[in-house]
Amino acid sequence: MLLKTRGIAYRVYEPIVARVTRNYLSKEQNQILIAEANLPSSNLKSFDAILTNLSIEDSKIDRPSVYSVQTFQHLVEGDIVVVNTDGIINTLYRVNSHQNFLLTTERCNSNCLMCSQPPRDKNDIPYLFNLGDYKR
Ligand code: SF4
Repeated sequence: MLLKTRGIAYRVYEPIVARVTRNYLSKEQNQILIAEANLPSSNLKSFDAILTNLSIEDSKIDRPSVYSVQTFQHLVEGDIVVVNTDGIINTLYRVNSHQNFLLTTERCNSNCLMCSQPPRDKNDIPYLFNLGDYKR
């Protein structure tokens, strides 16, 4: 199951958490626009960030953006993602899944054989704890 994609971050100075949409006419708050094939020329300021598969040379956007994103096939309208400063886009919540969960840390000490997300020895608590607090 694909939960992560990446591209080239531009003006992403802190993690951005919001719902994704492909509707560039949307007026809702806290949304990230997925722009495939072309970039709309207006209304971009209402989005917290823009994600596109186009290259950064094609168009500079005056918004936090991630260019040259490898794929959006796993993202549907309303999914919640975190856009990181390094261009990695992690899916936090999938609207079509009944198995969403929120991690408070990945520092599990059980080491189960079947674990699909092996524990990492990294202090991720401040990052995960502060995700909802970053200003836009
Ligand atoms: S499945 Fe993975 S995350 Fe869950 S308890 Fe086991 S090692 Fe920890």
